[in-house]
Amino acid sequence: MCGIVGISSHDRCAPELYDSLVQLQHRGQDAAGILTSDEQFHVKRGMGLVQDIFEQRHMQRLKGSVGIAHTRYPTSGDRNTGEEVQPLWTSVPNGIAFAHNGNIVNYQELRQEVLGTRKRYLNTRSDSEMLMQLLADELMQELAQGSSSDISDEDFFQALVRASGTLFSMIKGAVSAVLLIQDRGLAAIRDPHGIRPLVYGVRTDSEGRQDHIFASEDTMFYTLGFTRVGDVLPGEVVFISTDKKVFRSRTARAAFTPCIFEYVYFARPDAMINSINVYRARLRMGENLGKQWLDAYPGLMPDVIIPAPQTSNTMALAMARVLGINYSEGLYKNPFIGRTFIMPDQAQRRQSVRFKLSPQELEIRGKDVLIVDDSIVRGTTSREIVSMLKEFGARKIYFASSCPPVVQPCRYGVDIPTTEELIASRLDQEGIRKHLGADLLIYLEISGLVEAVTRKGDHHIDTPCTACLGGRYIHEEVC
Ligand code: SF4
Repeated sequence: MCGIVGISSHDRCAPELYDSLVQLQHRGQDAAGILTSDEQFHVKRGMGLVQDIFEQRHMQRLKGSVGIAHTRYPTSGDRNTGEEVQPLWTSVPNGIAFAHNGNIVNYQELRQEVLGTRKRYLNTRSDSEMLMQLLADELMQELAQGSSSDISDEDFFQALVRASGTLFSMIKGAVSAVLLIQDRGLAAIRDPHGIRPLVYGVRTDSEGRQDHIFASEDTMFYTLGFTRVGDVLPGEVVFISTDKKVFRSRTARAAFTPCIFEYVYFARPDAMINSINVYRARLRMGENLGKQWLDAYPGLMPDVIIPAPQTSNTMALAMARVLGINYSEGLYKNPFIGRTFIMPDQAQRRQSVRFKLSPQELEIRGKDVLIVDDSIVRGTTSREIVSMLKEFGARKIYFASSCPPVVQPCRYGVDIPTTEELIASRLDQEGIRKHLGADLLIYLEISGLVEAVTRKGDHHIDTPCTACLGGRYIHEEVC
């Protein structure tokens, strides 16, 4: 997962790109970059957290009113090299900078196309660089002359739409991306299945001038004074010219299958993506989990519900309401330690659970405790939590997951890389319960999860992607 943002403003945009990255930090903590443009590109990229990368001196040289930025959580390529930190850029045509969220399944095939057939140089193993070169090459062919300076914005947009359409027809996988095209403007594109989110907003100043923003989530819109227009639609290209004219076109249509895991875990609860509020979706997951518990165990009532913080606080709260029992924050989470699921390796993850979570004995000792977690992926955190609760004197430990078992890897940009790492691919539910050391284990059923996500909201989702939960990979379906 990654976070992307693009801003077309009337003032310097670097400070707002920085603020946006801070608000998208939960989507990737590995590296980040900002690229802005006036007569030329200005860039600063680095490894680590946003607040550790950018200093005042960097911000001062990031000049220009149009820019894009990226916070990285690597899911392809080499996570140890700074060369793959985005935004990336290429010089032909015009000068194009690119920031991408998603993953390309047919990377090898398209890499050969870029290197062999199109004779474009690739500097890294990053699928994002390959995508950028493919799109740049298509755009150059559409523009015919290799320069776009003498055509209208409308003609340039149409060339970009055709190039994006060709790109969409070639790729298998997920693309949400923002592009800065030198001397032309800012663009946003989203693959026809709309797997990764991308939201669009505008801001009007006292003189009636409009600024524009595209971002993975609208988590920074309020702070920066933007109003949400809506999502960049699946298969859509949106282009903001240098004089802020807006062009929109859907170049391809397919089943709209956005990632359900965004609602389970990744997106911030205050985000509205695909016209569905993440917080409300999580409340409904907890509600459905509570109903499922009452159906399955009508005579069994825990003393207290404790969330495995922090994502699952919302689900646990709603489940506690349905069961009519106390909700307690019996596990304190140190907010200064990174999210375990996006820490780069297993050893770091295991070690970090006890640093991150601190049990509160008064909430636990002598009680039948129901722990609610958002999901069980590798089982590392869940097992540690059960173990800690035993140490703090819980009488019984029940475990509830707000998401069905994760049984196969994500191929669209979430770091669930191998089947072997997934506990549910090796063990059945009873085996997982024993592995965790819990007295009872319940998973929200897939129908309950999908219903929770799609019940409300002005959305047009056909069916969310549930491939990692045993559903089908959309790129393998015959359209
Ligand atoms: Fe999301 Fe899972 Fe689909 Fe990946 S496979 S896009 S994590 S629902």
